[in-house]
Amino acid sequence: MERLGVGDLARIERRVVTCRRCPELRAYCASVAREKRRAFASETYWGKPVPAFGNEDARVMLVGLAPGAHGSNRTGRPFTGDASGDFLYPALHRAGFATGSKAAHRGDGLRLRDCLITAAMRCAPPQNKPTPQQLRNCFPYLLAEFDALPRLRVVVALGSIGFAASVRMLSERGFTFDEKRPRFAHGAEFSARNAHRVITLLASYHPSRQNTNTGKLTRSMFDAIFSLAAAAVDGVPGAVSRSPAQARPSSNRERSASSETR
Ligand code: SF4
Repeated sequence: MERLGVGDLARIERRVVTCRRCPELRAYCASVAREKRRAFASETYWGKPVPAFGNEDARVMLVGLAPGAHGSNRTGRPFTGDASGDFLYPALHRAGFATGSKAAHRGDGLRLRDCLITAAMRCAPPQNKPTPQQLRNCFPYLLAEFDALPRLRVVVALGSIGFAASVRMLSERGFTFDEKRPRFAHGAEFSARNAHRVITLLASYHPSRQNTNTGKLTRSMFDAIFSLAAAAVDGVPGAVSRSPAQARPSSNRERSASSETR
């Protein structure tokens, strides 16, 4: 893929939606869209690769795993229409990164502020388990999205696969980390530097139903992650290296209207 630059998110989105690099995944997503879950039998599923949600002004990038078969693969927007989104968007709203807490479909009017949501994969893999080859196929889109965010300061990786993709993304763009081998752990923070800027990488458990229903990821744990993200974005001294438990409670922060997203 040619290197896309600033202002190219719309072009990236057009390429993502028509991508056929993983024909087996396109076939799987289309079959899920045809067969549907009974609860959504009256809906028309998206059934295609799911593009990022956000715009070029974002200073925070969230990197998840992949669309859910009956969530994003149904609605066409990341974390929209499933239990993960029901946990994520309220947290983003409490932290001031989203205009609302409910995400139902692409036309629901929800806006992000200063934030872009993407994933390691843009097609739903069976059992949420992408193959290494599928991850490699999709990685250029993550790099392209990174290149399209000139103000980016914080990457929040949701889950170990999103974390690995985030580390690779930053490494490919010449960033080196304060730790030789960044390892995934909930609440872990890393500074990534290149010649031009410093980006904070935060790791969080994925807000999957499995993690939230079992208490592995609680509301307060998740809020602490976004408090850290907000502090790092604003350049609060000492934001990096504090543990989430020490972070201030998040609040609805005023963010510039210019950084609102579709
Ligand atoms: S997973 Fe990514 S690379 Fe594979 S078909 Fe979907 S959009 Fe293309």
